[in-house]
Amino acid sequence: MPSTHTRVGMTEATGIVGEFLALKESTDADVLAMQCGDFYEFFADDAELVADELDLTVSQKSSHGSSYPMAGVPLTELTPYVSALVERGYRVAVADQQETEDGHAREITRVVTPGTLLETTDDSAQYLAAVVREEGSGARRSDGTAGDSYGLAFADVTTGQFHVTQLDDADAAATAQTELYKFDPAEVLPGPELRADDAFLDQVRERTDASLTLHSAESFAPARSRHRVREHFGSETLESVGVEGKDAAIRAAGAVLSYVEETGVGTLASVTRLQAYGATDHVDLDATTQRNLELTETMQGGSDGSLFDTLDHTVTSAGARLLRQWIQRPRRDRGELTRRQQSVAALTEAAMAREELRETLDPVYDLERLASKAVSGSADARDLRSVGETLALLDAVADLVDRTGRLAESPLVDVLARIDREAVAALATEVDDALVEEPPGTVTQGGLFRTGHDDDLDVLVESHEEALEWIETLPEREKEKTGITHLSVDRNKTDGYYIQVGKSETDQVPAEYDAIKTLKNSERYTIPELQEREREVLRLEERRHDMEYELFEELRERVAARAELLQDVGRALAELDALASLATHAVRNDWTRPDLSDGRELDVQGGRHPVVEQTTEFVPNDLRLDEERQFLIVTGPNMSGKSTYMRQAALITLLAQVGSFVPARSARVGLVDGIYTRVGALDELAQGRSTFMVEMQELSNILHSATEDSLVILDEVGRGTATYDGISIAWAATEYIANQIQAKTLFATHYHELTALGENIPTVANVHVAADESDGEVTFLRTVRDGPTNRSYGVHVADLAGVPEPVVDRSRDVLDRLREEKAIEVQGGERTNGEESTQVVFDLGSGELNAGETSTSEQQIATDGSQKEAPASDSAGPSLDPETEAVLDELDNLDVNETPPVELMAKVQEWQAELDGE
Ligand code: ADP
Ligand code: MG
Repeated sequence: MPSTHTRVGMTEATGIVGEFLALKESTDADVLAMQCGDFYEFFADDAELVADELDLTVSQKSSHGSSYPMAGVPLTELTPYVSALVERGYRVAVADQQETEDGHAREITRVVTPGTLLETTDDSAQYLAAVVREEGSGARRSDGTAGDSYGLAFADVTTGQFHVTQLDDADAAATAQTELYKFDPAEVLPGPELRADDAFLDQVRERTDASLTLHSAESFAPARSRHRVREHFGSETLESVGVEGKDAAIRAAGAVLSYVEETGVGTLASVTRLQAYGATDHVDLDATTQRNLELTETMQGGSDGSLFDTLDHTVTSAGARLLRQWIQRPRRDRGELTRRQQSVAALTEAAMAREELRETLDPVYDLERLASKAVSGSADARDLRSVGETLALLDAVADLVDRTGRLAESPLVDVLARIDREAVAALATEVDDALVEEPPGTVTQGGLFRTGHDDDLDVLVESHEEALEWIETLPEREKEKTGITHLSVDRNKTDGYYIQVGKSETDQVPAEYDAIKTLKNSERYTIPELQEREREVLRLEERRHDMEYELFEELRERVAARAELLQDVGRALAELDALASLATHAVRNDWTRPDLSDGRELDVQGGRHPVVEQTTEFVPNDLRLDEERQFLIVTGPNMSGKSTYMRQAALITLLAQVGSFVPARSARVGLVDGIYTRVGALDELAQGRSTFMVEMQELSNILHSATEDSLVILDEVGRGTATYDGISIAWAATEYIANQIQAKTLFATHYHELTALGENIPTVANVHVAADESDGEVTFLRTVRDGPTNRSYGVHVADLAGVPEPVVDRSRDVLDRLREEKAIEVQGGERTNGEESTQVVFDLGSGELNAGETSTSEQQIATDGSQKEAPASDSAGPSLDPETEAVLDELDNLDVNETPPVELMAKVQEWQAELDGE
């Protein structure tokens, strides 16, 4: 909100600026555009703001002795300026000028906001959301107190989509955030209870780009919302879509409706249908998982290389929008998935028909968006023609499906069967019969209608054209009459119609010619007859423009009245486009139709990563998870392909629940209720959040949310802390998931200690990504095999790198002892009492060597991890090398109090370099 300080003093202003400032006071919009004749003007602070944001020139307006900044745009050009401001997050009020008996009056007619902007340039959906918390009406918490319910409503005024849900379970708050992330709204209206909840609002700010708007608290009141929802959708709707009694959902829905109505952008009527969805309709995908799996955006931020980008072969923007939604919100309903699969399968087989379908759909316009434009009164004649032409294509599409055997017996038929084809054909004909083929882009200048559309218009047009014709043929007649050769009739703004005669012939003009202007080479004249005709033409022209505009508005209203039909057709065509896109991708990439099952299995033969396979010679891999084998510990050297293998499992599952084919030779996918991942920490680091804290928050979320029907992917969990901590957490989490949650899980880890769990817990198994280390080189085979990886891999690398034989042998030896006994003979070490050798135990936690003792129970777990925090790793080993010893010596002898800080820093850097082996 802009500050009001400067405004207080200015309310003194009178005249036009005073009116502006008074209107501005009455709205909570950020910017006001006020109509002044042929312009919309911004004054004072607002002028400065739009000048800054949109490169408008500011001038000074004097008003009663004071001077105010002023900026303006022509009436017809307001829309792009408003859109640009709104896209930058401002809410823009527009005040229009109405003629009244005594002059004119101005009032705010609409407030355009990020969630209600109709002229969007973005292809993806644009949601306005409301979120409400009902305290104490949700499921009981574990401590016995009553939990909260959350109600969510999402409206896309550009397409008329409207979704509501209510969350009542113990995780309702977290799920509400996830839903907000999934819909990625442009604007969020938090309910009264949430306005003081900074934690909640902060999360919304962090996870979405939405503007937060405080809509009046009364609009969230239960009775009022209920009334509004019933009034808009019909009194039976709450019951029939199953939200009756769900107060939080109803309050959110009511608030959204009231906001759309109040902003006055005229799109409310495009919201034709209330769609309620339940918590169990979609696969649970939290924000982290969506990001990690790069569904619509890559970790780097762009959309190139995302799953959607890879999969998208749609030919219409509505089709692309739907496909994106399918990917973001995979389904759990086997019936729906099977229908999509059957359609995709049919389309993969009917190659010719598929291509023909895509060609037929190619010229299809976005009917959902056009319906909203018609409803709000912003559609022009070209928009209506687009509606007509698109509706007319439906028959071609339906014919194609009907006459292609394979498609005719698929559920594609049902997609089309939902539509009233006769109504569609009638409306298409009506529009086509009415409007000329290429109407002008403005609707106030006539030239819109075909002859025969309206008798009165035809009569008017005929007289208009007759009058024009008389003028057009006037030169011929005059030339003949006067014998003048250089004679023409033209029209301009100042002179109206005139006769122009070349200088050399002006002496021949008849007496009735009345000179009106002298130019360098010619003279302009008028004659009474021409003046009379001119008046007639102007009169007819104006009447024609008015009449055409009126007729156009009628036509637009008739189209708007069929908004629901347009939406139905638009959605059906979008569905065909999305399905054809999935089929196209499946065929081009040799994907296979997965078997969907209700069992807890994931059995993939020859699986590939859908995105990586596009750019790499991909080595396919098998994967088997089932009741007896629920949890895989994935080991293997760095860069061998662990992360890819696990993401591949998640993406194949997700694709199966989109209804798509999958990148595999064959696949059997047990449907999951959620996919949870914790992959890598790089992005979090870049955001400056504590890596380990975030890692643990995400782990905590997974452990709370996952069920036995979920798929869990853990990649290097525990890496962000000291080795002992890390192993302990990874170990305990594995036990908990395997024993308590029993979710299907893949866990890639560099803690080879965990492979012991694979050998001891029946449902946990080890697999590793193989690498070939022969011939002095490491070759990544990218093949996943059963069993844990070779543990001395690091030592092997040291060997390959040419570290002298004795050192390599000795490190193997030390490593084995570390793992098995923990006590190592210090070679060459001698005690003063004459004993031959010394034994030490290396404590990984403290990094200290303890002389002599046998291992304590706490030290049963050894590690070969490569953590920096603990100086133990495969290749370095605990038998301290000379460098390390030198560093430790120096550290021991350094007098901290006597050394300047800068020198201390330099010292530490030097040690680090030494320890890194540089
Ligand atoms: P890790 O997690 O084990 O460090 P990644 O999964 O990040 O390894 O993979 C390392 C590289 O290997 C990536 O560039 C990836 O594209 C490639 N890769 C992984 N799996 C395969 C495969 N099956 N076929 C071909 N290339 C692969
Ligand atoms: Mg990895």
